[in-house]
Amino acid sequence: MISIKNVQKIYASKQGQVKAVDDVNIEITEGEIFGVIGYSGAGKSTLIRMLNGLEIPSDGTITVANRVVSKIKGRSLRQARQEISMIFQHFNLLWSRTVKENIAFPLEIAGIDKAERTNRVNELIKLVGLEGRENAYPSELSGGQKQRVGIARALANNPKVLLCDEATSALDPQTTDSILDLLVDINKRLGLTIVLITHEMHVIQKICHRVAVMEAGRIVELGSVLEVFKNPQQPITKRFVQQVTEPEETKETADHLIERFPKGKIVQLTFVGEATEQPLITNLIRHHEVTVNILQGKINQTQNGSYGTLFVHLDGDIKEITRAIEYIRSQLVGVEVLTNA
Ligand code: ADP
Repeated sequence: MISIKNVQKIYASKQGQVKAVDDVNIEITEGEIFGVIGYSGAGKSTLIRMLNGLEIPSDGTITVANRVVSKIKGRSLRQARQEISMIFQHFNLLWSRTVKENIAFPLEIAGIDKAERTNRVNELIKLVGLEGRENAYPSELSGGQKQRVGIARALANNPKVLLCDEATSALDPQTTDSILDLLVDINKRLGLTIVLITHEMHVIQKICHRVAVMEAGRIVELGSVLEVFKNPQQPITKRFVQQVTEPEETKETADHLIERFPKGKIVQLTFVGEATEQPLITNLIRHHEVTVNILQGKINQTQNGSYGTLFVHLDGDIKEITRAIEYIRSQLVGVEVLTNA
């Protein structure tokens, strides 16, 4: 569906040239949810903007649905854009128009007649779950509802590809999850190819099939979400794994737990793509003479397996504890023994 070949983008700025995208090669299959993760300045926006012709590559070729989008202009570009829609972090809605008028807007531009427009808008409103809010203005909607309007509007012309530019970054975690669920639903129901860029590992982990990790304009790792995050090769990828597995309050949590359990050891376990934590804990109890206390933590279940972090307290003979920790290390990517004697 999408082919990105040897693509480069160089911006000329006052300080000289900036290589925003540096020799990127990606092939994305029809029906895939493909994520690009990277920190700010990595080149993600530039890359995604080149997919719908908002930026022209300095070098290389981009093909979307058999059309070379890196070369076209004018009318052909406008036609191509009907097949490649985009949603944005700050929704980009028209504030003086109601929900249904926002959704109808691309249909008006495409010259669809009024009766057909009304039917299509009603279908879309149902698809994104906005029944009852048709006549509301954007200022009367929650963030999640605004993004639902954005999604409905993006789908109005039956695109083949949906580009998502940090589409959940302005939303709280619960709303983020409901929008991500909606994207998965749309991907399944319509067979739509989705490309999303984000700096949040959670988003990738929850819905993407494959991921590319981007740093300084280059793709430094690419593969299935499980593969990449279960066995991260690059330091930057490891940092993204820690983002979901190490809550910010880890240090405080650790200090607090160590105070509560001065005996034995407290171990922080990082799960990435494991089926569940249950078999590990069961094996620990069965094969090692230690008592295992699950203290706290959070494991998220997603379509890519589960991920998250758990703090457990192991007590018993020190040799047994050491063996138990060795066993855990053989099973998980991240095992941190917190510093109690
Ligand atoms: P990201 O989306 O990952 O934050 P961007 O694609 O926005 O990254 O930016 C990549 C690099 O290109 C940055 O160094 C940024 O400053 C530079 N850049 C982006 N857009 C422009 C522009 N229009 N002119 C000059 N430099 C730009």
